[in-house]
Amino acid sequence: PKTHQGRIAFVTGAASGIGKAIATRLAAEGACVVIADLDLEKARAAAAELGSTDVAIGVAANVADADGVQSAINETLLAFGGIDLVVNNAGLSLSKPLLETTEKDWDLQHDVMAKGSFLVTKAAAKSLVEQGMGGDVIYISSKNSVFAGPNNIAYSATKADQAHQVRLLAVELGEHGVRVNGINPDGVVRGSGIFAAGWGANRAATYGVKEEDLGQYYANRTILKREVVPENVADAVYVLTGPELSRTTGLHIPVDSGVAAA
Ligand code: NAD
Repeated sequence: PKTHQGRIAFVTGAASGIGKAIATRLAAEGACVVIADLDLEKARAAAAELGSTDVAIGVAANVADADGVQSAINETLLAFGGIDLVVNNAGLSLSKPLLETTEKDWDLQHDVMAKGSFLVTKAAAKSLVEQGMGGDVIYISSKNSVFAGPNNIAYSATKADQAHQVRLLAVELGEHGVRVNGINPDGVVRGSGIFAAGWGANRAATYGVKEEDLGQYYANRTILKREVVPENVADAVYVLTGPELSRTTGLHIPVDSGVAAA
């Protein structure tokens, strides 16, 4: 059997970008996948690419809304009868300097990422704990949760919040056999919807490069000089939730082609 055969995975923000690559990889490894995203049609279309509704469904969920999150978890339980693996991936990046960051910007970043991953993990944890069979929670945090960069105060602060949720919940859920780990990607330009939504232009301006050169710019500043793509993050989710790392919890894996000491 495949490594994730019969496991039920709930992936937020999985209608595009990194989340879609994660859902695709988990489905390929035998998991049943729930694609939770803001737009129901987009979520359903992404699920349909993975197969019939026996293996993948799309559900509408604004992760910042507790009732919406609970409905999406309920739909998951109704469709597949349980939940074994949660990926907190939904996010957005406003990427503004401090003086341009409004209270609304701060709240949106924190509502979607810090509060959103808290709400999703909480709603799913009830099933994970009750099922008594362990499970996995993954947070897609960011290199920015650890390293400082320009024009990113609200985004980076909420990514650091997510990173600490990983450490705290690894302790609290660990006694139920649930592992909680994080991934810190950086510079995923190709295949990322954040890029399409103006993030790329913003970052390119911040670093003084042309937007079409942004991926190469990110790659050039790494140790490996290799561009990071959504599938690289999906590989890390696969490894962290697979059988080989069964004694690993509270960890963050960088997927950034390597950061050299300054
Ligand atoms: P993306 O824009 O392609 O994907 C984000 C998805 O989240 C979209 O489908 C969007 O509809 C969904 N989403 C946004 N707000 C939501 C909400 N309130 N409820 C439910 N879904 C919501 O971007 P991506 O690059 O694939 O980003 C995925 C995650 O990876 C984010 O958390 C991001 O912060 C993180 N990340 C990305 C990079 C990068 O370089 N692209 C680096 C580090 C971390």
